[in-house]
Amino acid sequence: MKTIKVNVVTPDGPVYDAEVEMVSTKAKSGEMGIMAGHVPTVAPLTIGAVRLKNGSNTDYVAVNGGFLEVRPDVVTILAQSAERAETIDLTRAQAAKARAEQRLQNDDGSNDVKRADLALKRAINRIQIAEMR
Ligand code: ATP
Repeated sequence: MKTIKVNVVTPDGPVYDAEVEMVSTKAKSGEMGIMAGHVPTVAPLTIGAVRLKNGSNTDYVAVNGGFLEVRPDVVTILAQSAERAETIDLTRAQAAKARAEQRLQNDDGSNDVKRADLALKRAINRIQIAEMR
């Protein structure tokens, strides 16, 4: 099967770089599956998983939003933060989840609910992806 190169890049550097048969991700407009020959596209992503399939192997990367760019020979995902499943610190994500839940629960109007909600989404996403490894 034909493959396509995928790069996941963050301000801290590259997180993933490989040739894969299929990239699946969650764009704001819905699930996207990309294979070699996909029409060039740019799409904003939600906090979610990027699934990278090559033969019988599937890698998972947690992305914190960002953008997907599909070019004829390469798919680039640019995100503020991203982690491969193997590098996710589960304890840290669980602590972040508990903190965010606490902030949402104790909301007295002075809390930034949107920020806590996003932190919660990032933490849940990391936990789910860490549990897939
Ligand atoms: P925390 O409150 O634990 O810092 P956060 O969601 O605020 O979580 P981010 O701002 O998204 O963290 O990321 C800051 C940096 O820490 C990024 O480089 C990100 O990849 C890394 N990071 C955050 N959480 C984890 C985790 N659970 N495991 C591994 N790396 C993480």
